[in-house]
Order: sequence, then structure tokens, then C-alpha cells
Amino acid sequence: MKEIRTRYAPSPTGYLHIGGARTALFNYLFAKHNNGKFIFRLEDTDVSRNVEGGESSQLDNLAWLGIIPDESPLKPNEKFGKYRQSEKLDRYNEIINQLIKEDKAYIAYDSSEELEQQRKEQEAKGIISFRYDRNWLKISQEEKDKRFKNKEYSVRVSLPKNKDYAWNDLVRGKISVNTDEIGDWVIKKSDGYPTYNFAVVIDDHDMEISHVLRGEEHITNTPKQLIIYDLLNWEPPQFGHLTIITNMEGKKLSKRDLTLKQFIEDYKNDGYIPQAIFNFLALLGWTSGNNQEIMSKEELVNIFDYKRLSKSPSKFDITKMNWFSKQYMKNENNQNLINKLNFDIHVNDEWKEIFVDTYKQSCSNIKELQENLKIFNLDLEPLKDKSNKVVKEFIHQLSLVEFSIEKIQEAINKTKEITRENGKNLFMPIRLATTNLEHGPELAKSIYLFGKEKIYKRLGI
Ligand code: GLU
Repeated sequence: MKEIRTRYAPSPTGYLHIGGARTALFNYLFAKHNNGKFIFRLEDTDVSRNVEGGESSQLDNLAWLGIIPDESPLKPNEKFGKYRQSEKLDRYNEIINQLIKEDKAYIAYDSSEELEQQRKEQEAKGIISFRYDRNWLKISQEEKDKRFKNKEYSVRVSLPKNKDYAWNDLVRGKISVNTDEIGDWVIKKSDGYPTYNFAVVIDDHDMEISHVLRGEEHITNTPKQLIIYDLLNWEPPQFGHLTIITNMEGKKLSKRDLTLKQFIEDYKNDGYIPQAIFNFLALLGWTSGNNQEIMSKEELVNIFDYKRLSKSPSKFDITKMNWFSKQYMKNENNQNLINKLNFDIHVNDEWKEIFVDTYKQSCSNIKELQENLKIFNLDLEPLKDKSNKVVKEFIHQLSLVEFSIEKIQEAINKTKEITRENGKNLFMPIRLATTNLEHGPELAKSIYLFGKEKIYKRLGI
């Protein structure tokens, strides 16, 4: 059987987005589930849109998530050619020239004004989606020569007439498109670069890609790509188109929406646990089949099945993301967390350990944990009103024992016994009286973390 090879092929036009990360993740899971290879390559021919550091940002953020490609521009396998499109121009030109020679593609000399004219004429005739008519034939040879010399031409593929191209989409089932709905399209632009729909075919073929999972915005591109496979007598990979990710209102995520953190970098900077994001992303448009939600990378690899990819859009729910991250924070090693925190207060190792162990239970990320440290920097004002019976009893009980977590707990228990209050009526007054906060993690530990001196001063012990 042929090796399963999948790929993620971003353009280095920006940082790694949630959507891109999810595409990479599904391709990764698909490959790894089948003992195959996951490839990272770069579509960097739209030179004007490339951003500095785009490639490394993509790779670094994927690595942070735990998605390490088997092959990439940094780890190429010579057998499959180059992993950046900008380094493959000779290869694309070789195929383009072959197609021209075989009359499967031709040079088109239209200027942008002439194309605009064509577009308008078609619009006037009520044709909605533009289809190129072979206008170049109308130009004189002399004009053609001039434009050729000035490099004012592109290359278009010559489509077979009225031919259906169909594929069995891994997510959506059979999709079929007729060439008459497409029209001859550009495979090489006047700037000398190949277009995406052309280059991607050469890349997928050269790299022996077996399966392509990508965003649904590419559904309309797939027939164009199938045409190229057909013209070159190549076997296409199997395609699956993932549904969109929406915000909570059901609108497609827009990178310009600044109210939502959409870049993996944002989560990295806030100190989220990468395994949690990996887990969360896997469930953005896919289900485990048994309602299980918390799954390690190994478990996900084991049970991944493209048949459970969702056919409807998936909502990006930050509350759920935080919930996932919380579950992972709880299990995170204390020392790892301690190493990531900046303790600008003077505390010993025991204190750090108790702090992290207590507060990680309720935090989604390191940034939140760090925020909680601030509480201990503040001074506690002496408590003014001690009239509440729970408070009064607790102060009394606390004054009788030594200041340790167990003894503070005992004082709370005694207070409960004597006042016969429990739950909120017990904890809330004690918490407010001691820490001046309404909410927090385990009460005895919270009190202990403030330290004997501050708590005694506040309670007047
Ligand atoms: N660079 C394209 C994108 O980011 C890749 C499309 C594909 O996977 O074929 O959408």
C-alpha cells in the first residue's frame, strides 16, 4: 500500500491562525493515525503579501502545539524537491512549457484593461461568473510580439469543453463541476510566478501527497486542480474540505475581529498549555465518537477518523477553550509552572509550591496565575467590622492555634461546629474577613498564603 502523506501548505503572509492550526492538526492526525508522513511546505509566490518571519512563525507555533512535520523547508527530503514554492520556479516553468507544447495551455496577451473590458461585456450579457474568452486571438502578431518582449502576457490552461470533473470529497461526498462553468484560467501570471491552483498540483504530485484536508474555501479550486492532474495524466490525491469556523454568533471568523484572540501566538503569550489547545482544536469540527473530550495527543492519533469530520460549521468558543486549558493546568507539574512565573515578592520554595498547587486549580493559563500573585503584594487593612458571629468565632479559633494550613482548617471546622453555619454562609464571611476577597481557591490555603503577619494584623490577633 502507498504511504499516507498529508501536508499543510500555508502562505507566509502572517502568523499561525486558529484555522490554519486546525487544518495542520487534522492533516497531522490523519497522517500519524496511518503511520504516514506530515509535510509542511510554503506557498510563498505572492511576494507582495509575504511577511518577514512568516515561515518561522508558522513553524515555531506549530512546534509549540506539538505538531512537528516530518519534512519541511528546514528538514527537506531531496527526493520530493523543494519545500518553498519560490525555489521551484524552474520546475513550474518546465511543466508550463510542456503544456504549451502539447497545446494544453497557451500564451494570452490581454492587458488588464482588455480583461476588464471582457468582464464588463459579460456582465452586460448577464453572465455572473467571468469566463475568459480567447480574446488574445484578436490581437495582431505585431502586438503579440511586442507584448511578449515586454513580458506582458500570462499563460492560460486550455480547458476541455463540457467535461465533468468529479471527486469523492472525504467530508462532503461526491462533488462534480463542468469545465464550461470555469473557463480557461491563468496558470502563470505576467510577473512570471505560477498561480496557486497550478503550483499546488505540481507540489502535491512531486511530494506524493495522498490526502489533502483543507478549508472549504478551496472547494471551487479543486476542479481547476483536477483539470491539471488530468492534462498531465497524474493521479490526484483524495480531497476533503473542512467546514468553516465561526464566532459565537455564527459568523465566519475574521482575522480582523480584534475582540477574539485568533492567533496561536496570542495563546502562547498568555501561557496556555499547548496540549490543551491541541486537544481543543481537534474537537473544532471533529468528534471522538464516544463523547470523550479530554484526550492526549497519543489518544487523538489513535482514534482519529476522517469519517467523523463535521459537515456543519464549528463554533469557536473561548469559554470552552478556557475550560480545556483549566483541565490541563490542574494536571500540570508544579515545578514547571513555578519556573514560568515571575515571583516579585519575597517568598520561599514551600510558599511557591503551595501557591501554584492551590491556584492552578482555577486558572486557564500562566498569565492568570501570574495575576493571582499580585493579590499577595497588597497590604491588608485591619478589619473594621468583626461583629459577624462566624467572623468572631473564627478569629477566636485562629488565635488559639499555630499558623499552618491544617490548623487553619481546624479553626474553620471548629467555627462551623460552634456557629452551625456551613457552605457559603460559613466560607464567605471568613474569606472576606481574612483575605478581603469574595472568591478564591481553597480557603485554608488562601489564608495561609497571606502569611501569619498580615492575617494577624488584619484580624487584630
Ligand atoms: N496556501 C493555501 C492556504 O493557506 C493552501 C491551500 C491548500 O491546502 O491547497 O489556504
